[in-house]
Amino acid sequence: MAYDLTNRLVIGLSSSALFDLHESDEIFREQGEQEYRKYQREKQDIPLTTGVAYPFIRRLLKLNQISDEPIVEVILLSRNDPDTGLRVMNSIEYHKLSITRAVFLQGQSAYKYIPAFDIELFLSANESDVKQAIDAGYSAGQILHGDISDDLDDRQLRIAFDFDGVIIDDESESIYKENKNLDEFHTHESTKVDVAHNPGPLKNFIDRISHIQKLENAYKLKNPNYEPVLRVSIVTARNAPSHKRAINTMRAWDILANEAFFMGGVDKSKVLEVLKPHIFFDDQKLHLKSASILPSVHIPFGIANKVVHNEG
Ligand SMILES: [Mg+2]
Repeated sequence: MAYDLTNRLVIGLSSSALFDLHESDEIFREQGEQEYRKYQREKQDIPLTTGVAYPFIRRLLKLNQISDEPIVEVILLSRNDPDTGLRVMNSIEYHKLSITRAVFLQGQSAYKYIPAFDIELFLSANESDVKQAIDAGYSAGQILHGDISDDLDDRQLRIAFDFDGVIIDDESESIYKENKNLDEFHTHESTKVDVAHNPGPLKNFIDRISHIQKLENAYKLKNPNYEPVLRVSIVTARNAPSHKRAINTMRAWDILANEAFFMGGVDKSKVLEVLKPHIFFDDQKLHLKSASILPSVHIPFGIANKVVHNEG
């Protein structure tokens, strides 16, 4: 029987999201493919240092310990060919990550393979790969930057989400962006307070995360010493009264956030610095820029990414 991936959370990950590939990329850019190939072969037994998504992925995979059947699967989707990709696989082994499935595409974009593996979220540092995936209707994010230190004493896994354009679509955001009028936005949200929002690009992902939280709680009932590790936070520019529709939508979807911050335009970075998420998803680069010390993922979805921001 074929290995069934439909019952678990599947993350598709590029090697650039998991490891620091700056040096390798520089050699490819400055010295060309032949030198890059030679370099990766020579270094194939030297493990790559960890990258931005590593602390998130390591903790996510650890959740498999609470179930007989794996609940999380991470698949490497690499632009390398299998030969140069060997160093990445060796590095995965060195860092003891349980990632056994890998796809090497020799320069091709990975997004076409997202449905073949039932991938709920594709993470890559490659902007155009991520954009193509989003444009094709898949859930994807570009790993931007952030602190790559991994505190081994910190056992929690904190995931922080922006709301509009990430968990839900950009319908409400469009009202604000097109009219440049916050009152109109709040009126729209109040009129539709009992109508759940349309799902956004990370809706299925947060669904799975929420399901794993329920599994953790069930596991704790049988194993009282177990401390659930997953924490879900919403950090949104919404505030009263538009928070109501957000809460009602999460209720309708049976998704519980551990914390929600309705910021009303206050800079998100101050809250995020206290929260210290292992990964933070936002569709607006401006918000990610101000939170630049955090492991940040840009979701290039919807109206917020159609307008040209003058970000300097
Ligand atoms: Mg947003």
